[in-house]
Amino acid sequence: MTELTAGRAPAVVLRGVAKSYDGKRDAIAEMSLEVGHGEFVVLLGPSGSGKSTIVRAIAGIERIDRGSIEIFGRQVAGDRLHVAPEDRGVSMVFQDYALWPHMTVLDNVAFALKRAKVGSRDRKEKASEMLARVGLGGKEGRYPGELSGGEQQRVALARALVGHSGLVLFDEPLSNLDADLREKLRLEIATLTRETNASVIYITHDQAEAFALADKIGVLAGGRLIQMGEPEDIYQRPVNPFIARFTGLAGELAGKVLANPAPGLVEVEVPSASAVLRARMVGRLEPGDMATVALRPFALAISDADEPSIEARVLDVAFRGRGYEHALALGGNVISSVFCAERHPRGSKVSISVDPAGCLAFSEAEEVAVAAVHDPAADGAEDEAIAFDLTEYAL
Ligand code: ADP
Repeated sequence: MTELTAGRAPAVVLRGVAKSYDGKRDAIAEMSLEVGHGEFVVLLGPSGSGKSTIVRAIAGIERIDRGSIEIFGRQVAGDRLHVAPEDRGVSMVFQDYALWPHMTVLDNVAFALKRAKVGSRDRKEKASEMLARVGLGGKEGRYPGELSGGEQQRVALARALVGHSGLVLFDEPLSNLDADLREKLRLEIATLTRETNASVIYITHDQAEAFALADKIGVLAGGRLIQMGEPEDIYQRPVNPFIARFTGLAGELAGKVLANPAPGLVEVEVPSASAVLRARMVGRLEPGDMATVALRPFALAISDADEPSIEARVLDVAFRGRGYEHALALGGNVISSVFCAERHPRGSKVSISVDPAGCLAFSEAEEVAVAAVHDPAADGAEDEAIAFDLTEYAL
């Protein structure tokens, strides 16, 4: 919280919010969270985890069954109260842009100011300024149908942010755009929302997007908020194996705990790699317990053979511009996203060193607890994020 925002009501407070579409299964189950004034919060989760439902409930498009929602200190939902979407002072950017097709670009943006009772000339001036800021100067007179997808999303962004320092909700705004455009627009969203001091809730299933944008990330699964924290926190201290997997692993190795050499650390014997690894402990692990060691991509390096290391074989190598990413066979396990400045050809033997800071050890009990909350059937096919590379981001 900055000096400017100290003492102000949070942008959003959810208390025990629940919502079911069919009366049987909760799309959101008892969700509580707070978004500070001027904060950029990303809700990250696989498909079906309840992300859209929660932002639609905050916007007022969906009614909640239980709990309460406050926006800037004012209750807008709860106890039979349901303030209409247009009276919540919230703007929203959708995946499919949702522009008014019969209005020019300028009018699309200026219309958002009408509600704020800004005079007609001022509206056009402010809208025009905002359009210039999103790189659409000169296209004010066009209709949405005459613009590319990226340009249309820029109009939607301008409309959401014009004259607005309130709450802006983003529902997967980049998912219909090409990769290079996505990157550009992501940067624009990050800078413009902060320049206008908007408070933001942004939902995505894309981990890289979440880590790049967020002041805070909330990870959802099965309609529940599993962990909320700063990106570094989520990455370094995931509370369970689901969060670790969903935020990017190079691979996992099964083993048995030998010792607790220091507080928070375990030594795990991994027979398939003929190795003993040091790992940070998530939950409780005692000597003799079976454990899974989850490896962050940054933990692995292809090293000089004379260092203490583990033998592996190169399965695949991919050129990534700044170097090469290798997939390795380690015993019966596949370890991916192992970065190296040099190319190691397919089939060659390499030695890898492992940094304990990027190794996380979980107990079997943790896996069972995760399976109980996390319903893979509801998560669709998008839950494939195992080999996501956060090496640039990592320590
Ligand atoms: P996400 O945005 O994370 O993909 P949703 O909020 O869309 O998740 O969905 C959460 C759960 O609610 C899913 O099981 C989904 O099938 C269900 N759901 C979403 N919208 C509806 C709807 N309009 N009617 C019935 N079920 C729905």
